[in-house]
Amino acid sequence: MRKIYFDHASAYPVDSRVLEAMSEYYSTWIGNPSSVHSFGVEARKSIGKARESLIRLIGASDPEEIIFTSVATEANNLALIGYSTRNRRKGTKIITSSIEHMSVMNPCKYLQKLGFKVTYLPVDREGFIDIGRLEEEITQDTILVSIAYANGEIGTIQPMREIGKITREKEVVLHADATAACGKIPLDVQDDNIDMMTVSSNDIYGPKGVGALYMRRGVTVAPLVLGGGQERGYRSGSENVPGIVGMGRAAEIAVEEMEDEGKKLKAFRDKLISTVLSEIGGSYLNGHPKKRLPNNANLRFDYIEGEALILSLDMVGVAASSSSACTSKTLEPSHVLIAIGIPPAEAQGSLLLTLGKSNTEEEVDYVLRELPGIVKRLREMSPLTPGGV
Ligand code: PMP
Repeated sequence: MRKIYFDHASAYPVDSRVLEAMSEYYSTWIGNPSSVHSFGVEARKSIGKARESLIRLIGASDPEEIIFTSVATEANNLALIGYSTRNRRKGTKIITSSIEHMSVMNPCKYLQKLGFKVTYLPVDREGFIDIGRLEEEITQDTILVSIAYANGEIGTIQPMREIGKITREKEVVLHADATAACGKIPLDVQDDNIDMMTVSSNDIYGPKGVGALYMRRGVTVAPLVLGGGQERGYRSGSENVPGIVGMGRAAEIAVEEMEDEGKKLKAFRDKLISTVLSEIGGSYLNGHPKKRLPNNANLRFDYIEGEALILSLDMVGVAASSSSACTSKTLEPSHVLIAIGIPPAEAQGSLLLTLGKSNTEEEVDYVLRELPGIVKRLREMSPLTPGGV
């Protein structure tokens, strides 16, 4: 049976050029960057090169502003908890949105337990925060605003430049979780006035187990992992040299290929969305039709249970997702879909298709051929369907 992978938001393949770049750092160049011998020097140099590649991808100017972590979740924790606890004397209010990833939401809840006040900005039907409301919420006591550049689930891309303009005017630090956005759309921390930004290696076709936090010069955080003082003391632990080399190579490839890949995936995305909406009655798009990630199609079907849809698609060889992989364990409807105003029962009927660079139009057509029949069959079986469909 054929296998089609439309679940990139959960895990991306590693680009073969990335694997190739990494391999000699598992075998030949095995040095620890802290060592003085030539192996150590090579490891240090290779990490420096990866920092250079990463700053080019995100529009930063100083490689020292990159702190490598183990994963995007850790970078988000470092930004939220590290910044707030380090800068507590400046104020105790944090502003975020109600559709953040759990790696932002849960650090915020933790900070509330420590006595910080967190405002979770509501979003509109398409997932956008209200800029006016953000401006109103920034008080003297506000130290940090954390808004995801793009939502990994509904794909909505926030007006980051407008957000950054406000936080800069109000002299509040802005953190952007760009895990889902990085490598998909152009990013520029300088033009957008972003002070801290989370990026993930795997989401740009690099290896798992690496992430990074961009920290503008002058921004300080309390480290969460204490030890030998690596990464300028912000993240101790022997560096994952092959992983970092891989992330650097992935960033280089993204700089070169993101635009063309984005055009291709956007065309696939739009074909998926428009065909489903026109051919399957009772289907809807979650998020904005255009201001969304080029590889994200999040659809919703009346009278359908998302998990059943995922299993049925899997039976015809298509891997997809019903919500963010990170929260799908809970079987609760996605907090993101609830926040954009979708009733829980309807939110359960959502299908998230996330595309990657190896997907083809032929695969898109296959899914579009299979989906109407699956939806029809599930509706026929569903006790929710009024009088059958
Ligand atoms: N932020 C966003 C927006 C995400 O979509 C994800 C999941 N890919 C994460 C953070 C967490 O990423 P990871 O599980 O790789 O730490």
